Amino acid sequence: MAEKNIVLLGATGSIGESTLKVARKHPDRIRIAAIAANSRYTELAAIAREFSVPDVALFDNKAASDARASGLFPPGTRIHEGMEGLITLATLDTANLVVMAVVGTLGLHPALAAIRARKTLALASKEILVLAGKFVMAESARLGVPIVPLDSEHNAIFQCLHAEPRRLVDRLILTASGGQFRDATVEEMRLVTPAQALRHPNWDMGPKVTVDSSSMANKGLELIEARWLFDIPQERIDIVVHPQSIIHSMVRFVDGSILAQLSPPSMTFAIQHSVLYPDRAPGVVPTLDFSQVLRLDIRPPDYERFPCLRLARTASATAGIAPAVFNAADEIAVAAFLKNKISFLGIPAVVEHTLGAVAVREPENIADLLDADAEARTKATEFISAASDKL
Ligand code: MG
Repeated sequence: MAEKNIVLLGATGSIGESTLKVARKHPDRIRIAAIAANSRYTELAAIAREFSVPDVALFDNKAASDARASGLFPPGTRIHEGMEGLITLATLDTANLVVMAVVGTLGLHPALAAIRARKTLALASKEILVLAGKFVMAESARLGVPIVPLDSEHNAIFQCLHAEPRRLVDRLILTASGGQFRDATVEEMRLVTPAQALRHPNWDMGPKVTVDSSSMANKGLELIEARWLFDIPQERIDIVVHPQSIIHSMVRFVDGSILAQLSPPSMTFAIQHSVLYPDRAPGVVPTLDFSQVLRLDIRPPDYERFPCLRLARTASATAGIAPAVFNAADEIAVAAFLKNKISFLGIPAVVEHTLGAVAVREPENIADLLDADAEARTKATEFISAASDKL
């Protein structure tokens, strides 16, 4: 049996694709035990055939019945569906690691189910911790089930922290590419189109996270995620702009020493580390070549031009349900922007309005957070329909 029997939730997205590249490189160590996608069953079937995957799931029920009728899956493949299907996969007896790479907060319940079933979680879906970090981390600590961060920045911090006691850590330093508009003026940003915001200089990712990178809301979400993952408050997490995306993040210790993790901007490095952890093996793509001149620029971020950064700090400092509201409002705002309903600068305006419109309270359980999430979505949507000509 392979060392890592992986359930890959979000197999057809960009993280899923890179995870499969890692699996292809290490067939002796990695077996794909189960895969799930939202609705793209043709692609899911191709993966099932290539990796002989016995259990698959489609979140979309219609896609699941189409998949069963399609004849594309190898005979004997069990095709699960819906949230129940994702949870079934996340708790499979035949797996010991769940790679969580579904979009948004859809993976929350499967992630909790995986932890309760004592499966190590390689976590890419940052929204899960933004929404419910307090409860997910408490569950992982209670049961002693590790969460290994798969997002490149958090994976870098995880590597830098290594076995250092937490009392020796002074600050975390998250790097940000600065996105497509890092040098744009506010005037230029006012006129940004969805097509422009969907281009990223260094990373090839899905549409939501690419727009979030352009607005730097992504770094805001990562700040909140880091706060929960490493139990360091937001005022001790710095954000720096590093356009080359080679230093993936850093840790500053109490003596002033700073450790950094470097690799080319390919997700395969962070994914392979989190999947094979605590072991290492040759990488999928070549690493940095120091026989060439390499420039590494670092500068402070501009909180004026990128209000999403400021709003994320406010949400993280406020805590309670505020991070959940930030996340939900941003998701609604990005969707409205992509449909040309609001401008690019309308995104932070919607987030700011919604943070002010939902009363801050301390969640007692996950249901409270899901209520806050729903309320934020309603408030953000109402604000967009009432004020879209001004946004
Ligand atoms: Mg990232």
